[in-house]
Amino acid sequence: MVARKTTTARRTTKKTTAPAPCPTCGGTGEITTEVRVGRGRRKTGHHQTGLCPDCFGSGLAST
Ligand SMILES: [Zn+2]
Repeated sequence: MVARKTTTARRTTKKTTAPAPCPTCGGTGEITTEVRVGRGRRKTGHHQTGLCPDCFGSGLAST
């Protein structure tokens, strides 16, 4: 009797040293800021996307 081959699929967990995403924008490179208008900076409820000031759009945390 032939011994059965164990076909256990082993997942190779390669640890890729991925750069940490920017904590400010979460890796998207963009941040959403609420639009404020007028004196007193009244909130309009609208949101606009802007470039992340920390990573400058790269989405990666700068060291
Ligand atoms: Zn960022």
